[in-house]
Amino acid sequence: MPKAVIKIDCPCGSASLYQDCCEPYHLSTGAPTAEKLMRSRYSAYVLGLEEYLLNTWHPNTRPKYLNLANDRTKWLGLDVKRFEPNDDQAIVEFVAHFKDNDKAEKLHEVSQFRRIAGRWYYVDGEFQK
Ligand SMILES: [Zn+2]
Repeated sequence: MPKAVIKIDCPCGSASLYQDCCEPYHLSTGAPTAEKLMRSRYSAYVLGLEEYLLNTWHPNTRPKYLNLANDRTKWLGLDVKRFEPNDDQAIVEFVAHFKDNDKAEKLHEVSQFRRIAGRWYYVDGEFQK
């Protein structure tokens, strides 16, 4: 069956269409930079792409599962504040906006990324107050 073409704005807030932004990463093994990986991981949370999130998680810190199907978080938007690439390591600072029980919340995180054999992985992040 041919795949339906649905044109939506990319959930990562890039102002591009999903098919021109994060979708190609979701259909492959990741993104060419840590910043794009961060954006595509945010989009994956919005779209419930658990496998992509696990596949782009560093093996040392990767959880066994995420259980996104039962996650009631409503994601509202992403702001990437800082992107510091440095060879095979990178830092991405972002603020993700979401609604939890109808209350607007913010997740402000400084995330560490690492490149192994040409692929970027999310390692971990520190919440900012
Ligand atoms: Zn995107």
